[in-house]
Amino acid sequence: MSAPVQPRHVAVIGAGMVGVSCALFLQRDGHRVTIFDPNDPGSGTSFGNAGLISQSSVMPSSTPGLVKRIPKMLMDPQSPLVLRWQYVPRLLPWLAGFLANSARDRVERNCLATAQLFGHVMSAYDTVIREAGCGELIQATGSLKLFESEASFQGSAFERAMMDRCGCRYDVLGADEIRQMEPNLAPIFARAIFIPDSRNILNPGRLVETVARAVAEKGAVLKRERVASIDTDASGKPVVVTDAGRHPADAVVVAAGVRSGKLAKQLGAKIVLDAERGYHIMLPRPEKSINRYLQFAECRISLSPKEGGLRMTSIVELASADAPPDFRRIRRLKAQAARVLPGLEPEEKSIWMGSRPSLPDNVPVIARSPRHPGVFFAFGHSHLGMTMGPVSGRIIADLVAGRDPGLDMTPYGAVRPLL
Ligand SMILES: Cc1cc2nc3c(=O)[nH]c(=O)nc-3n(C[C@H](O)[C@H](O)[C@H](O)COP(=O)(O)OP(=O)(O)OC[C@H]3O[C@@H](n4cnc5c(N)ncnc54)[C@H](O)[C@@H]3O)c2cc1C
Repeated sequence: MSAPVQPRHVAVIGAGMVGVSCALFLQRDGHRVTIFDPNDPGSGTSFGNAGLISQSSVMPSSTPGLVKRIPKMLMDPQSPLVLRWQYVPRLLPWLAGFLANSARDRVERNCLATAQLFGHVMSAYDTVIREAGCGELIQATGSLKLFESEASFQGSAFERAMMDRCGCRYDVLGADEIRQMEPNLAPIFARAIFIPDSRNILNPGRLVETVARAVAEKGAVLKRERVASIDTDASGKPVVVTDAGRHPADAVVVAAGVRSGKLAKQLGAKIVLDAERGYHIMLPRPEKSINRYLQFAECRISLSPKEGGLRMTSIVELASADAPPDFRRIRRLKAQAARVLPGLEPEEKSIWMGSRPSLPDNVPVIARSPRHPGVFFAFGHSHLGMTMGPVSGRIIADLVAGRDPGLDMTPYGAVRPLL
């Protein structure tokens, strides 16, 4: 049995999935927690994502052969990869790291780093579900990745090899099995990869709100203040500086999503963190609908049942988080959704853009700050922050307590070779 944790006051910056999960696990250790966020909990990127708790998405965005494929992808108006050219000068360090991470050995390393966290995702999630009482928001229906042609399925050979190497559980299905699981899809799918352990969150924003409410009911304080910087007092303890004042704490966790890089940089940790922006459209649920999270390989969209309709997500747009959204491409993809699910009306109930907080290798930073022992980093979860929020919270609580998190933490350090 591990030694009892000395209760302390911990400040968490950011009330997204990662921040509220950190708050929940820190509170379980008996700490007094204050969360700083000028916005509502779960109103950032954690609001509009696809809501998949993944057990298979080990592949980073940067994959072998990317350098050769990029010119064609950038010219194709249907491509899910978009580069807003005016941001290229600002994005150069990130783009250089992104391309460097497409080397096969880097991709393998990045897959294994993600997979190691996957091994702890479900147990941490189950703790969050139990403590926050949010089980009704999660469907344990598995997920499907669908392929229209045998050739496109064969094109996923490297991804499947990585999934095998990482120990992901999956089944390959044929057309009949696909029809049995999703009878309302157009009969155009030759193959599918079924991930039985993945889960679908019916309302990601409400899930975060529910967790935030649960930690508040147990005594956490939510301060609606934007953090400008993290200072230290005369004894070396951290002080959170906001527009409203100075707030001393025993420890600080930076979990401010795509805005975390700036705070880390002020602390002397130069982390190449930027936005991989993505979009969703909420569509009305057709009478003949789908049963689970579905990803469509050819048209590069996902569809999933959500409270209030079906959510279509897509696109990796490389641009500043502050750039205005460009909804044209996601709107064009509505035709693809209607093609794969006949009866789906392309009526737009709402539309949204959010910034995935990404390092070029798509591996998050979950670590003590290299220069300030009282500050901890939990950000850069990229495409997988809804999945990895709880496990990151559990690990941060271990690091704050000085406990061994029980996994090799090297891949998640703040200082790592990205180029
Ligand atoms: C289209 C799309 C689909 C996705 N699908 C999935 C999916 O299916 N599964 C999955 O696991 N992940 C998915 N993701 C990724 C996931 O949404 C993100 O990784 C995750 O939401 C990041 O959570 P976060 O808590 O780090 O950031 P956020 O949710 O953005 O929260 C950060 C919070 O910090 C606050 N903040 C910022 N600056 C400050 C400051 N200075 N002071 C105080 N507070 C501050 C913000 O107001 C915000 O509330 C998707 C993302 C997109 C865009």
